[in-house]
Amino acid sequence: MARTYVIGAGLAGLSAALALSRGGRAVTLIEATRRAGGRCRSFHDPMLDAIIDNGNHLVMSGNKAAMRFLDEVGTRHRMVGPQGAAFPFVDLASGEHWTVRPNWGPIPFWIFAPWRRVPGSSFLSFLPALKLLMAGSRQTVADVLPAKGALYRGLWEPLVIAAINARPDQAAAVLMKPVLLETFARGSSACRPLIAKVSLAESFIDPAIDILEARGVDIRFGERVQALTSENGKVNSFTIADSTVVLGDGDNLILAVPPWDAASLLPELQVPAAGEPIVNVHFRLVRPPRGEGAVALLGVIGGFAHWIFVRDDIVSITISAAGDEAQLDADEIASRCWADVQVALGVDGAVPPFRVVKEKRATFAQDPAAVARRPDATTRLDNLYLAGDWTNTGLPATIEGAIRSGSKAAGLAAKPVKGRKA
Ligand SMILES: Cc1cc2nc3c(=O)[nH]c(=O)nc-3n(C[C@H](O)[C@H](O)[C@H](O)COP(=O)(O)OP(=O)(O)OC[C@H]3O[C@@H](n4cnc5c(N)ncnc54)[C@H](O)[C@@H]3O)c2cc1C
Repeated sequence: MARTYVIGAGLAGLSAALALSRGGRAVTLIEATRRAGGRCRSFHDPMLDAIIDNGNHLVMSGNKAAMRFLDEVGTRHRMVGPQGAAFPFVDLASGEHWTVRPNWGPIPFWIFAPWRRVPGSSFLSFLPALKLLMAGSRQTVADVLPAKGALYRGLWEPLVIAAINARPDQAAAVLMKPVLLETFARGSSACRPLIAKVSLAESFIDPAIDILEARGVDIRFGERVQALTSENGKVNSFTIADSTVVLGDGDNLILAVPPWDAASLLPELQVPAAGEPIVNVHFRLVRPPRGEGAVALLGVIGGFAHWIFVRDDIVSITISAAGDEAQLDADEIASRCWADVQVALGVDGAVPPFRVVKEKRATFAQDPAAVARRPDATTRLDNLYLAGDWTNTGLPATIEGAIRSGSKAAGLAAKPVKGRKA
């Protein structure tokens, strides 16, 4: 039987392997590191004596591909969040707390209800955001959305930075369109924020690996693909350490690695190269600040921290678009984040045990020029397909984009088409 080799066991590779094995195809999944998950991984931290994620990951209930993935691996119940669509915020300067609460259904009545929107905003302040839906490919968010007013400071700016991992003057405006249309524009059922109850490994990664193993997928960890060779418009072999795997007739390869790794394997490939950092800080508190087992998230306005995630006694901070913050040393990052946590959650005491995780290349830099360099899933080689959050999904570099890209590449690999790009 023809085999598909999926290189990279991040969410894109897992999604491709799930789709192919669901259809009964022969699959080999090859991962350079000892574990699956890539930029979406969990580990035991000895300092905190707890399982933590490399970074807090938030998905929305309207992320259809992510929800399908969770359903397939049977873990939708391991994603938790507020009861409905609720985005709580705190302004550290004024001490004011509010919650943005979209209503049910696509007609946004909520923008007329002061208690559902940012204090100091009016329904008229939502109008400029419509320009995001018509933005051109060369525009940044700042080009179309004026950086002023309570709504901008209290919702749009933090939302853009979180969704695109770029400041509004860098962020490609076109990436906000699907975010708004697929979540906020569909009402509360599509914009419930969800986080992993225990860890990303428990919700996404380990159950996917279990299913792939049960379906007989050949999974190889600790094997880095170092080179590809091609002939007659097809990949005909790849190398791992000192062994060579030769592809048979009808075999395919899906490259589901980050853009910098893809470019080293296929030097002619155009990729959005630069990476944008995200910094996370995980604190372990003496007692859970929101009660035993509680899970919560809180947007922070005017702080060093951007978002606070609470999972029982672990309080985790996210700082996105963190080019400057990632330069600071871990002690300084932790003490500045702890100062924000004290105000935001009303806790006190010295800085508790912490772990700082700097993901220097969390996503590609999602500015208009980089977005224009995202390649499609097909390549000039007939049996080689690309997957990954950086490929041309039309979405920001997210879990949703990674999963969709994997399913798309799998669909193409399952039905090879003659006459690829020159
Ligand atoms: C700190 C942080 C916070 C984030 N927050 C969010 C969030 O809140 N919501 C959200 O939706 N997204 C978030 N993201 C983005 C999300 O994690 C990524 O979009 C997604 O995980 C990318 O998956 P991927 O499979 O495309 O790539 P990766 O996860 O990078 O997977 C690629 C895999 O390929 C392997 N590999 C590379 N080269 C080779 C090779 N030569 N041979 C074999 N294997 C190879 C790598 O080891 C890796 O396992 C965040 C990312 C980070 C880092």
